[in-house]
Formats: sequence, structure tokens, C-alpha cells
Amino acid sequence: MPDSDSASAIRFVNVSRHFGAVKAVDDINLDIEDGEFFTLLGPSGSGKTTSLRMVAGFERPTTGQIFLHGKDVSNLPPYERDVNTVFQDYALFPHMTVAENVGYGLMIKKTPKPERARRVQEILELVHLANLGERKPSQLSGGQRQRVALARALINRPRVLLLDEPLGALDLKLRQAMQIELKNIQQQVGITFVYVTHDQEEALTMSDRMAVFNLGKIEQVGTPAEIYERPATAFVAGFVGVSNLLQGDVAQAITGSPQTFAIRPEKIHLAETGTETPAGQCNAAGVIRDVIYLGMYTRYVVWLDAGAELTVVEQNLHTTSMDVHHLRGQRVQLSWNPAHNQVIGA
Ligand code: ATP
Repeated sequence: MPDSDSASAIRFVNVSRHFGAVKAVDDINLDIEDGEFFTLLGPSGSGKTTSLRMVAGFERPTTGQIFLHGKDVSNLPPYERDVNTVFQDYALFPHMTVAENVGYGLMIKKTPKPERARRVQEILELVHLANLGERKPSQLSGGQRQRVALARALINRPRVLLLDEPLGALDLKLRQAMQIELKNIQQQVGITFVYVTHDQEEALTMSDRMAVFNLGKIEQVGTPAEIYERPATAFVAGFVGVSNLLQGDVAQAITGSPQTFAIRPEKIHLAETGTETPAGQCNAAGVIRDVIYLGMYTRYVVWLDAGAELTVVEQNLHTTSMDVHHLRGQRVQLSWNPAHNQVIGA
């Protein structure tokens, strides 16, 4: 018997899930530790939701095993697993008040009324809805409904909470505020959160670690900084943030090696042609082909003499849109620290 205290919260062992000819999840291995905020990130159709649903028990693996705290749950029904799920559409009961929605799980379990009321109040305070217990879901904003769904999932004190694009329906400002709040709540309750999103910024903001999915496979697992600074594959480099990929003759001209490498736009310094660059830097000369003014920063697209395009991002510390637009067509000198080059495997 594995020791359930020292085992991972969730373990996938050679897990696949096929739907006919579609390999929705294709032989993944993954360990998620107890108390982690772990994100499954990837484009639409990459297998994130199917992976989450297999942890919840709504789907069974075609092959492989899933362990929860050391116990093989591959063939257990959802209600025998110590997990709860928050769905994107919240699935609240419209005819019940907020407090009734949140206390529903405890009522089903026949938890005595005074304890139920106490725990409902406690959890509503956690999600900052203490004064709205008597409202109906229709009298709440999107963000408030989302918190009710979260409270309802947390009240049963699951060891693992699964969240499937829970902020997808909210506008950008509210989503960003809720990202920080969700992370705070996770830290307060200290349980494992597994979070599905296709939004790389959301994943970078919230996660302790993340797995990047592509075509049913996991391309890389790591902390946000590891994934961003050290993408292991061309797919990860392109999907998480903006990246320049240089290869073949162009790579050779810049680094002396034809190996493909990625360089992030914000690591590149843009200067007038002829500017001295410190020794040991990567250098490339080119012409500014496009200037995109974005308020806080400007994005430049530079066509290199070596025969490739590079995107460069510079903060607008001293410049305004008036200053930057006339730079189109100018010759420039690019330089960056070679330590930021990330060699991409074949
Ligand atoms: P999204 O972000 O769009 O939700 P996802 O990464 O969560 O995408 P999945 O929902 O896991 O992706 O789907 C992975 C693949 O499996 C897709 O090609 C999808 O069409 C297919 N798929 C998922 N569920 C089923 C099903 N019940 N029957 C047939 N194919 C399915």
C-alpha cells in the first residue's frame, strides 16, 4: 500500500483517453503535489478538460491509471473520490438563495442545521459574500455567482478542487481581480487546486506549477518562470508568451551554431545603427518594418539582414506614440545577452 500522506495528491500513470479515432489524451504521466495550485494550460482541444474529467471520475481512462493521494481511483465513481469541481457555467440552483446553494451539499449529507449555518457563513466570509446569503443567483453579478460556485465546492472540504475555466465568462478586469482572489483563497484553505485554462497569462499569474498540453500530450511541466524563461519545445515557446525562433543560417550568423533557439522580445535591446554594444552580446542588424504602439510599451518588428524577422518589445519610458511611429524604415542594431537564448530540442 502506498503511504497516502507522502504520495502525490494526483498521479497520472501512462493515461490515455480515446474517443473513437481521437486521442484526446495520449499517454500522459504527471504528478501534482498536495497543496499546489496546478494549471493545465493548452489550446482548445488539447486534452485539458478530458484530463480533469478523468480526475473527477466523469471519464474513465482508456488505458493507464489515476491515483489520488496514493490510491488508484481509475475505476471509482465520482462520488467516491475526495474531489469537487467548479464548472464554468457555475450550475447554481436558480430558485435557492445563495446560502441554500452553498449549504446544499451539507444538507444532502444530513449535517445538522446549526453546524450547516455556521459553515455556510464561514465559507461565505472566505469568498467575501457574507452579506449576500439571502439573495438569489439572478440578483448577483457574474463575479459574485462565480464565488458562490466556489463556496459551494469548498464547503465539503474536498482535498482536491478542480476548476474548469472558471473565469471564462467574466470580463477582463473582473477576471484579473478574481485570479488574485482565487489564488489567495487557495493559499488560505491550503488544498490542491487543479485549474484548466487556455489563457497563458492566467496560468502564469496563478500557478505554482503548470503543464502545457498540445494534441493530447504534455509538452512541458514547470513553474511559470521555468516555462516562460526555459521553454523546452518550439510549441511551448510560441504558446506561452511571444517568442522569436531563429534557426539554421540565421542562428549560425548570430550564435555561431545552427541550432534553433528562442529569444523573448523583451530581452532584446534596440539601438541606433553604429551604437557600441558590450562585448559578448548577441548582435544583429536590421530594418524596422513595423511599429505597434501599445500604450505601456511598443512592439517593433525588425527584418534582419541575416534573413529573418524578430519582434522586439520596449517599455515606453521616455517615448510617446508620436516619437515611435517615424521609426518605421530605420536601420537599427539589436543586441541581447546570449544567456537568454533558449536552445530548442529537435
Ligand atoms: P477546450 O479548451 O476547448 O475545452 P480541451 O483542451 O479541454 O479544449 P478536450 O475537451 O479535453 O480539450 O478535448 C480533447 C479532444 O477530445 C478534442 O478533439 C475533443 O473534440 C475530443 N473529445 C472530448 N470529449 C469528447 C467526447 N465525449 N466524444 C468525442 N470526442 C471528444
